[in-house]
Amino acid sequence: MTTEAKAEQMTFQAEVNQLLKLMIHSLYSNQEIFLRELISNGSDACDKLRFEAIADASLLEDDSELQLTVQYDSDAKTITVTDNGIGMNRDEVIGNIGTIAKSGTKQFLESLSGDQAADAQLIGQFGVGFYSAFVVADKVSLTTRRAGDPADSATRWVSDGTGGYTLENTTKESRGTEIVLSIKDDSTEFLSGWRLRGIIKKYSDHITFPIMMYEENPAPLPKDEDDAEDDKEPETPEPQLEKINAASALWTRPKSEISDEDYQAFYKQICHDYEDPLAWTHNRVEGNQEYTTLLYVPKKAPFDLYESMDRAGGVKLFVQRVFIMDEAEKLMPRYLRFVRGLVDSNDLPLNVSREILQNSKAIESIRGGSVKKILSLLEGIAEKEPEKYLDFWNEFGRALKEAPGEDFANREQVAGLYRFDSTKGDKPGDLVSLADYIVRMQPGQDKIYYITADSYTAAKNSPHLEIFADRGIEVLLMHDRVDEWMMGYLNEFDGKQFMSVAKGELNLEGVGTETKKDDDAEDADVESLTKRLKSVLGERTEDVRPSQRLTSSPACVVLGEHEMALHMQQLMKQAGHDVPGSKPILEFNASHPILKLLDQESDEDRFASWSELLLDQAMLADGAQLEDGAGFVKRMNEMFIALHQSSES
Ligand code: ADP
Repeated sequence: MTTEAKAEQMTFQAEVNQLLKLMIHSLYSNQEIFLRELISNGSDACDKLRFEAIADASLLEDDSELQLTVQYDSDAKTITVTDNGIGMNRDEVIGNIGTIAKSGTKQFLESLSGDQAADAQLIGQFGVGFYSAFVVADKVSLTTRRAGDPADSATRWVSDGTGGYTLENTTKESRGTEIVLSIKDDSTEFLSGWRLRGIIKKYSDHITFPIMMYEENPAPLPKDEDDAEDDKEPETPEPQLEKINAASALWTRPKSEISDEDYQAFYKQICHDYEDPLAWTHNRVEGNQEYTTLLYVPKKAPFDLYESMDRAGGVKLFVQRVFIMDEAEKLMPRYLRFVRGLVDSNDLPLNVSREILQNSKAIESIRGGSVKKILSLLEGIAEKEPEKYLDFWNEFGRALKEAPGEDFANREQVAGLYRFDSTKGDKPGDLVSLADYIVRMQPGQDKIYYITADSYTAAKNSPHLEIFADRGIEVLLMHDRVDEWMMGYLNEFDGKQFMSVAKGELNLEGVGTETKKDDDAEDADVESLTKRLKSVLGERTEDVRPSQRLTSSPACVVLGEHEMALHMQQLMKQAGHDVPGSKPILEFNASHPILKLLDQESDEDRFASWSELLLDQAMLADGAQLEDGAGFVKRMNEMFIALHQSSES
């Protein structure tokens, strides 16, 4: 078969070596998945060929029954996985097998902790793929020929999984890929028909192409008995290939015939996940449009869900059971990019392309329907299994928060799925839904109050909350980076307006329990104090005014209703964005002892210093960074000295 050509020696990328070592280690207790991975690749290769053959039937040559074969040889200690799918040319072998084509591999490797159990899980999420062969094999030989290429243009790739591989040109009569694993001495348990059949049933039953194995001989062949004696009896007949898997498209079967285990196994197979999914929804839609969706919500977010914003959705598109494309991003909005599974349409043309999908009305309506299904699936979990829902929320909540900016029509329904920390919770993670918040609103309250900050603690301790605490009004504590952005798009929920407690004018007249105003206490002279403060702080502030918000803090800064929170401005600046400088409004608490002292301060220089200090600390409490940190420290120190001197005199 092989033309004698010199094999070329190649070395792996550094990442390949690192990943291989990790994988062999991490998958030690779950070695059998190597077969699932190779079968899955073979099945993908058949899918791709079937798709390309729509445009060019000659690619199928005279071999149109796409299938996979698994064979083993106990004497040679090999397992061979073959497919007659699309195959690869030499460049593709180098690009796909010799390197890790996936973007983000480096980042992935950096995210590993060294804790084996945790890392194994991450590797599962990453998708172990072809290299899992090295978990059971100490040598892997892959021979492949791309459909449509001549027989003598095949490529053989051989590696022992340490350091590098060899590549040579060869001849292969049939198109597709053959992978021969030389099984390690401690993995010989896999050299068993019974074992291999079990693994195929377990992981690959729903592969849509037949997976074939040779029938097992019921009894060992009598070898050296007198076979010459009976010449008429033919030798033991050649073992026949038999189909091991169900090989039917799971999603086309009636729901009533599919068990949870079937759904789970199918998920693991098509989504290459290690773990069971969190939930799924399977629907057949008839009428104007005919299509089937089988959509899954995974348990864990992929490690790069939030880093790579352009990550395409994990929903595959089929047309009349023929696989068309992976990650058809048009099928899911971005905020649902964690959803996996498939859509099988009866109406789209088989030769549909990504360009056609861009403007397809059919796709738009499938997408609309799919979004509704996912949202109601999540609502169901939230209602019936709140604990499970929290798990979901912790993994994927941040993605859902992108919805108001992206999916205007569904923003309110998605907002119903949101959970936030709140001033009614004792600790971070005591989350509340917007619906629950509304139920707990105070008499007279018609707004949903929230604060954004860059941490739970900063939100929880903000001076802006004082008056709300005083009046028993709950405030949502939003401390996720996307929250401030999200609230720019979310104006109301259930007819109630959202209102930031740190922005705009506050009017709590008649809301909650009225505070008893301590009329006897002498407040600072508000009018003259306002004037004096303004004259000192006029440059740095938009306005200075007495506050309705404060009970125990001396001062706070307030922003205009449509202005970006200070901690966000800070972040944007750090990220190199131009932030239009907006000046805050300083609100002071006239009944606070510091303000009373300030009011009595007759030394104008000192008054100016103290006033600056008042503004500085209000800014700090709001998560802003001071432009003149050194000036702040200097004023602080001066104040200490002044206090010391006044206590001495
Ligand atoms: P993944 O399947 O997740 O992309 P793998 O490491 O398993 O990662 O495979 C890398 C690539 O190699 C595949 O995307 C595919 O292009 C190619 N490949 C692997 N196995 C086969 C095969 N049997 N036939 C054709 N191409 C294959």
